[in-house]
Amino acid sequence: MKDPERVIKVEKAIQEKYGEEIIQDPKATWNEEKEKEYLKQIKKIAKAQKQKEKIEVEGVLMPKKLFRKESERTCPECKIYSFEMKDNLYMAKFKCCYLCYLKKDFKENKSG
Ligand SMILES: [Zn+2]
Repeated sequence: MKDPERVIKVEKAIQEKYGEEIIQDPKATWNEEKEKEYLKQIKKIAKAQKQKEKIEVEGVLMPKKLFRKESERTCPECKIYSFEMKDNLYMAKFKCCYLCYLKKDFKENKSG
């Protein structure tokens, strides 16, 4: 007989992390194989969720949190609202759009 406490603990952990939908009465048919299968499933889900949190920008995967809400996509320098992913990236990193970043970069290089 397997330790039922452990089964419950694993089940609870899975439920807390990923919701109840992937639980299919593990108590009934629980064994090592099943546990491995569950762990595999968890890893799969975790991986899928990680990928969902990334956005592809010019072939590079960027974390979603780098990108602000739609309302924050107006460049504070030139006040232009941008739909472009590239501008969004520059806004997140340099607090201005791509063109303003280029302008700034140009100025800095000229003066410095
Ligand atoms: Zn700008």
